[in-house]
Amino acid sequence: TSSEDFVRSGVAILRWLTNYRSRTCRQLPIVSTVAPNYLRDSLPATAPEEPEPFSNILSDLSEKILPGLTHWENSASFFAYFKPHSSYPAVLGELVCAGLNVMGFDWIASPACTELEVVTLDWLGKLLQLPERFLSCSAGPGGAVIQGSAGEAAIVILLAATRRAQSRRAAASRSAGAPLLGGAGATADACTGAAADDVGRSRCVVYCSDQTHAIIKKACMVLGLRCRALPTSVETGFTLRGEVLAAAIDADLADLAENWLPVAVVGTSGTTTSCAFDPLDELADVCTPRGLWLHVDAAYGGAYACLDEVRPLFAGLERCDSFCVNAHKKLLVPFDLAALYVADRRPLLHALSLTPEYLRNDASESGAVVDYEHWQLGLGRRFRALKLWFVMRRFGASGVRAHVRAGMVLARRFADLVATSEVFELAAPPSLSLVCFRLMHARVPHGSEDDDALHMEFLARAKARNVFIIRSRLGGRLILRFACGGIEQTVQEVERAFEILRAVARDWMASTMM
Ligand code: PLP
Repeated sequence: TSSEDFVRSGVAILRWLTNYRSRTCRQLPIVSTVAPNYLRDSLPATAPEEPEPFSNILSDLSEKILPGLTHWENSASFFAYFKPHSSYPAVLGELVCAGLNVMGFDWIASPACTELEVVTLDWLGKLLQLPERFLSCSAGPGGAVIQGSAGEAAIVILLAATRRAQSRRAAASRSAGAPLLGGAGATADACTGAAADDVGRSRCVVYCSDQTHAIIKKACMVLGLRCRALPTSVETGFTLRGEVLAAAIDADLADLAENWLPVAVVGTSGTTTSCAFDPLDELADVCTPRGLWLHVDAAYGGAYACLDEVRPLFAGLERCDSFCVNAHKKLLVPFDLAALYVADRRPLLHALSLTPEYLRNDASESGAVVDYEHWQLGLGRRFRALKLWFVMRRFGASGVRAHVRAGMVLARRFADLVATSEVFELAAPPSLSLVCFRLMHARVPHGSEDDDALHMEFLARAKARNVFIIRSRLGGRLILRFACGGIEQTVQEVERAFEILRAVARDWMASTMM
């Protein structure tokens, strides 16, 4: 474990990684075929008593770990989920992060760690053409923080929104001389005391749509909030419309017996199933006069805000309270980097600040610095801004835009192939780098269990031919999702995958006389 050994092993591991990404991952089954507990059965039951040479570890990586991987990066056959992208500069950023091993929970813990995060998130915000109010360099109280995932971001945002709504309701009740929120169990501390919050939170409501990612439901579950997933339809392109939202909120407000407290709305820019965009301006028209927090889950779609041609999909963003984009989806950095922007940092700090004696310091008390511990759930935090900084410098804004745009070109090609094929049909308008499609058949009623079974069988056959896509459900029917846009993914790879899918469908249909 000397420095020389580190450098030697480091070079070996970089070679191993580049070999994996350019060659090996293309030769292995796209989805791992190992049986459960395969690794337990092939590794020793206890750690080695004596140190082992690095070469042993490296060969086990190839022989024991690789077979248990699904190949997300650089594989020519991975079109599942939302295709992630981890570029080499970002991988080096991770290496430096681990090598420096600094903590950035408050400014003084490592000023560069905090300040690079502030600066790179402003760079990213400008690249994504976010409204000025979300940037730290603006004159207002806005700012941004790196969270581990969009799910963690949702938890802190919904907590802040809830506390803000509770405080407002408590203040309004006090000034009207009415009992405080939460019914019989609530105390005069309903907006600040933990016990009182617990009572109040079960009356607090978060609104989203039936297309919203499950992380929002989970965040509500964790926080003890009521989550109302409002219906969408094919007619509205599976988006949450303003009138549906207004009706739901107003019905809750009118239900005095239940004492509901609407706290937040979550709109999605790029839903997981079909990459639909909720109309943020309509949602803002509903939220602003009613004082609800409007959060935008742009985990996937947010990256596309850097493209002028996609900008209209974000109309209304300037009236939203928070926006979260996963750089680890489309912006060339590996998991975990969810960039969370807020128009006003104060509700977040109010909800999450606690400073024990051992964390007090002059810099924090001067009020001149950012202490990110108050913007997140835990205390410790990695130097994650490094990987984003490396990416933005090595690719430049133009390189990032080109990468994001390239996936859309590929998706358009795939959509054209589907639209003109004899075996498939589009299941929704193609959006960004995603194409939703279905088998074209008249064999069983669409949306029936038999129809589900047909599509599941097709997916299994596609996987057996080493093309990995996943399913979802849209408008009651199972649909197939084809997500494009890997690093250096080529149109030939997309066409090849299409030809395999088409052959699978054709052969199978012929054999079963579909
Ligand atoms: N939100 C949307 C719209 C997503 O598509 C996804 C994942 O694909 C998530 C949230 C989950 O993101 P994370 O894993 O960062 O919590």
